[in-house]
Order: sequence, then C-alpha cells, then structure tokens
Amino acid sequence: MNMEKFETSLKQEKKSTFLTKGEVLQFSPQEMVDYLNSLDTKGGLEAYLESALEDDEIKANLSYWEKWMKKDQRALLDKIIEQKKEIYPPKSESLPLNLDDKFTEEELKLILSNLEAIQLTFGCSRGCPFCGFDAIKGVREHIPYSQLANLFQKYGGEISKKKPFLYWASEPSDYLSKEGLEDKTYEDVHQLAIRYSFYDPGITTSNVTDKKWMDFMNTRQSDDLETDRRFSVFGMSDERLGELKNRITTSRLEVHNEQKKVNYRTSMFGQQFKHVKGMGKTFEEEEGVEDIPKAGIACVDGILLTPRGLYNMFVVPITKEFPQGVIIIPLEKVTDEPINPGDNLREVMRRSIIEGRYSHEGAIKRGEEFQKYTGEFPKEVSVYTADKKFSLSVDTNGNVLEAKVVKENDKDISEINEANKLTG
Ligand code: SF4
Repeated sequence: MNMEKFETSLKQEKKSTFLTKGEVLQFSPQEMVDYLNSLDTKGGLEAYLESALEDDEIKANLSYWEKWMKKDQRALLDKIIEQKKEIYPPKSESLPLNLDDKFTEEELKLILSNLEAIQLTFGCSRGCPFCGFDAIKGVREHIPYSQLANLFQKYGGEISKKKPFLYWASEPSDYLSKEGLEDKTYEDVHQLAIRYSFYDPGITTSNVTDKKWMDFMNTRQSDDLETDRRFSVFGMSDERLGELKNRITTSRLEVHNEQKKVNYRTSMFGQQFKHVKGMGKTFEEEEGVEDIPKAGIACVDGILLTPRGLYNMFVVPITKEFPQGVIIIPLEKVTDEPINPGDNLREVMRRSIIEGRYSHEGAIKRGEEFQKYTGEFPKEVSVYTADKKFSLSVDTNGNVLEAKVVKENDKDISEINEANKLTG
C-alpha cells in the first residue's frame, strides 16, 4: 500500500470509530469533554474535529461548550472553524449561517417568531471567570452586518414578536463588522431592530469605560421605552459605583402611551452582588451540592441565534447535566413528527421549535449568597412542529409527561372540535 492510500485508510478507520452525531448531541458538557479527551489521548482529535465540524449541529454544540475544553483543544477547534470559513466565506446576500439554504420560508417565519436572543459576537472581551454563560475570553467571530440587515429586512415582522435582545454570552459593545470601507457597530444593528421590527432592544452591558458607548446607553433612539438599559456592576467597588452614578442618566423619563405610563431609566444592575460561582463551567469546582446555585441566569425559553449555531433553549434548574440551568440544543430541522409522552425534550428540540417566552426561574435574595430556583415542575411548554402546536408538560430532566395538540395547520383545536361536532 502506498503512503497516500495508507493515510486515507487510516483516516477512514478512525472516522468509523467516532461516535455518531446523535450520541454526541446527547452528551452533557462534561461527557463531551471526556469524549474529546479520550480522542486526544488516542491521537484522533484533529481527525474527529475535521470531520465533525462539517456538520452544523455538531459545530454549534462543540462551540457552545468551548470553554469546557482544554486550551489547546479550544485553539484547535477555532483554527479548524476559521479554515473552513476561508473555504466557504460568508455571503453578504445570505441570512446568518445561510439559514435560507437550510430552512423553508415558512419554517424561518416560525423560527424567527420565537427568536429570543441574537448573539452578535462569539466570545467576550471581558472574560469574567464566573461567567454564568461560559463565554470564552476574546471575540472570535461575529455575524456579518449585511446578513443581519437581510434578516431584519426580510423577517422584521416575525422578529418583532419576541423582541430579541442582541447579546448572549457576549458584550454588546464588542460588536464590530468590517465590510468594505465601512465599520458597523452594535449601534447599527440596534437601528435595524428599531427600523424593521419597531422595538428598542433591551441592553445589559459591562462596558463602563468607553465614552461613546456610555453616550449611546444614555440616549434613547426611539419612542419604544419599555425595554431596559442596564449597566452590569456585579462586584464593583463602592468607589467605582459612586463614580459611575455620576456618569449615567439617572433621571426617570415618563412616557404616556395609549394604555399605560411607562417609566424608563438607565439603571445599574447587580449592586451588592458578585458573580456567583457554580453556574456553567465553575459548577465542577464546587464540592457539595449545597454550594451550587439552583438557577442559572438564562431568562427565556425559545430560539437563540449565534455566529456558530441556531439553538432551542429551555430553562431548568442547574444540574450536572445542564450546568447553566438551561437545556440548549442545536435546531437541525423542523419535521411533522409528533411528540408523545415518554419523549425527551433534548431529542424533540432537534426537530421542532420551543415557543419563545420569558422564563426567568431564578431569584437571589439580598444577603444570601446563592440563587434559588423559583419555577415549578412539571413545567408547561409549547412546541411547534411543522404542522402542529403541542402543549407539553415536562419534568426537570426534560422528560415529556403529557403532550396534547392545541393547534393544527393554523386552526385552534377547539375550532376543529367544534367543526367535528357540527358535522358529526
Ligand atoms: S459575565 Fe457577561 S461580560 Fe462577563 S464574560 Fe460573561 S458575557 Fe462577558
């Protein structure tokens, strides 16, 4: 056998010993890291990543848990992703992640009607050691501005339904998209939301040093004042807090619309608190169960879009299996496969859409160190398949206890039952 053939057959042999996509997507973050470590020891990690990263969902999953990997494994993952991007550069006329190649227009309408957050940049300049969302230090990637413009221009109406915030495990002010001679910043993306989806996205930022950014935070761009602007000041010293207070707009702005009076102000968020250890990656550093916070900081069920993937999210208590307190699974397709009792959400979330909604089930009382989980189980959740809407009742591990169809092809089940009665 010549050398080339030998290398090809070695590669094939290695490939056939890799776990399947279905198996890998069922892993908890720790199990995934154990699997990568075992491949690393056997010398098969690079070959695995080369082939696995061709797959959108594996790429999304590995990226989401990148902080859990060893430093050299993270560097390898980033390098391979970068190389693949050079071979298939993002097209300015496409939607982010080329979603338009993967989903039909109808599917995209359903997906984007449940979009709760857009992560504009992958990685975060801050790199807080206890980040509850496991953001890795340093921005690696961003969603090109032209693709975001396409998204808002075409699906602004759908996006307006859940008014997604424009960050997740990221610092909004990190966004910079260089296209041609123009630099686009977070503020430009914010304008897309105002212009095409008619809402002024809520912002939480840790950037309290950049004057231009502070000016933007202190100024409203639209009449929609229902969303908050927050400076995250977790762990900030009293001296710095005092200094910051003088630099933000603290006066209340009252706005009257037809139904209600809305109070808006830029606020400081997290005073007297520190970032809590034990959410996400730092979960494993805690020795006893009692040391672990019960709820994460994820506050929505629904869809998340990042530079590296499209995900379904569902808030649950923090466990070894779900260390951020959220089940997060890459959305692969939208099928008409029914959902039944006994199914597990992790599998269902690969093929259907979790309805977007606010779902913050955590609370932290002043004077107490740890966050509590305030939600109850079984938890109700609505899920869309290609042709039906299901109402599910699930336990803390995402096992489906009950499943009933509440809508079929745009008709309420009550309407269908009524029609059946009349014809029956
Ligand atoms: S806590 Fe916020 S600012 Fe800090 S690393 Fe995480 S996403 Fe970035």
